Amino acid sequence: MSGSLRFGCTGCGKCCTGHHVPLTLAETRQWADDGGQVVVLIEAFVTDGPGMPADQREHVLRRSYPVPCGSGEVRVSVTFAAFNPGRCRNLDDNDLCTIYDQRPLVCRIYPVEINPHIPLRPGNKDCPPQAWQQGPELIHGTQLVDAGLQALVHASRQADRDDIAAKVAVCQALGMTTSALKGNGFTAYLPNMEAFAAALAQVPGDNGAAWALHVEDEALAASLHDHGLLTTREPPVYYAFIGF
Ligand code: SF4
Ligand code: SF4
Repeated sequence: MSGSLRFGCTGCGKCCTGHHVPLTLAETRQWADDGGQVVVLIEAFVTDGPGMPADQREHVLRRSYPVPCGSGEVRVSVTFAAFNPGRCRNLDDNDLCTIYDQRPLVCRIYPVEINPHIPLRPGNKDCPPQAWQQGPELIHGTQLVDAGLQALVHASRQADRDDIAAKVAVCQALGMTTSALKGNGFTAYLPNMEAFAAALAQVPGDNGAAWALHVEDEALAASLHDHGLLTTREPPVYYAFIGF
């Protein structure tokens, strides 16, 4: 988006309801320690091949990790997120965050976009119209005005890169090794939190597990087989396939 955009949070609490909140690895540990449920979201792509958005090459490569799939290789992107199908467990009856000083990075950044390739569009956000008619300037041209907010976005992107190998290792240790093809959907797992917390406490090494791609479209599956990739369209038992 170009031009100028101002923003002032109204405290409506809508962004704390019905949103799975992406967490860094350290935040995930804290969420698990506090008794929260985590949802694991996985998507994969082939470097310079199927699923890779060429215009986001550097961004998606840096936050992904290579794994074997069939006789080929895909790169997986893994998101650990607070599972919030309804109101966040930390939202009180007055729509205030009870862990405000320790809230996750993403909660501090909203409604700003973390992906540098996605422009901030008020219409895509939960904030009411008046939030965009008050407060200081948020965006000038295409730049975030607030240096503190810039630093938070940078920290979130850096955590994505720093954490990806450990997140993949945790997935592999717990058998979460079916992904979807980026752009076609993603897979979602709700791990047993006891086993998940144990894996997080002592992150295992890469066990070299073989991955598969959940693809329901036959033509797409055939084109992936041409790349030597292993696909499945079996009805999922341990995960959900969320197709686009
Ligand atoms: S942790 Fe706090 S700010 Fe983040 S979604 Fe929950 S209630 Fe909202
Ligand atoms: S949806 Fe927007 S205005 Fe409402 S609490 Fe969240 S950031 Fe503030």
